[in-house]
Amino acid sequence: MKATFLYGAGDVRVESAPDPTILEPTDAIVRVVRACVCGSDLHPYHSQPAGEQGIRMGHELIGVVEETGREVRSVRKGDFVIAPFAFQDNTCVYCREGLQTSCLHGGWYGTPEVPGLQAEYARIPLADGSLVTVPDVDPDAVPESLLRSLLTLSDVYLTGYHAAHAGLVTSGSTVTVIGDGAVGLSAVLAASQLGAERIILMGRHDSRLALGRAWGRPTSCGNVAPRGSPP
Ligand SMILES: [Zn+2]
Repeated sequence: MKATFLYGAGDVRVESAPDPTILEPTDAIVRVVRACVCGSDLHPYHSQPAGEQGIRMGHELIGVVEETGREVRSVRKGDFVIAPFAFQDNTCVYCREGLQTSCLHGGWYGTPEVPGLQAEYARIPLADGSLVTVPDVDPDAVPESLLRSLLTLSDVYLTGYHAAHAGLVTSGSTVTVIGDGAVGLSAVLAASQLGAERIILMGRHDSRLALGRAWGRPTSCGNVAPRGSPP
C-alpha cells in the first residue's frame, strides 16, 4: 500500500509501506476512505530534523472495517467508521471520566508500533474503544460533502466541541472564542449548536471571520443539542 512519510521539515513523501495486519486480538484493519492533515502535523512539518527514516504521519481518518481481531465485538467487517485521533479502550477509569487521551491502555498514532493513519490501510488498536460506527453510510454512494463533514469528527470539530463543552456553553450563553483557525471556527460552530446566544470570535483573517459569522448564527445549525449530547 501507499502511505505518507515525514523525512524532515518540509519533506513529505508518499511511499510504499507494508499492508497492516492484525497484531493483537483487539485490533481492527480499516480501509481508509479519507484522511486529513491536522494543525498539529504542522509542528513537525516545520521543525522535524532531517532523518534517514521517514515517520508515518496522520491521526484522523474515516474508513471501512476490513478485518477484526477475535476479541473485537463492537465493529465488524464492512462497518463505516470514524477513528478519533487517539486510540483507547473506552472502559478504564480515565475513559469513563471522558478523558480518553489519558487512557491507561491507549496511545497515539505515528509511532513505530502504531503507524500514522495517512495511508491506504491502517491498524487500529483497541478497536472496540477506538472506532465509532456510523450506520447507513456507503462511502461510494454518499456526497463528498458528507464524507468531509464526517472526517471533521475524527479530530478538529471534536476539539472545538470539547472547548465549548468544557467552557460550560449552554442555551443563552455569551461566548468568546480566541483565534480563528480551524479549531476556533469549530468552537464557534459547537457553541452555536449548544445554544449560545452571542459569540465573539477574535481573529484577524477576513475570510475566516466571514466563515465564523456564518457558522455562529443560531439559524446556521439545524437544531440545538442539549448539553452533554454528542455533536
Ligand atoms: Zn481507557
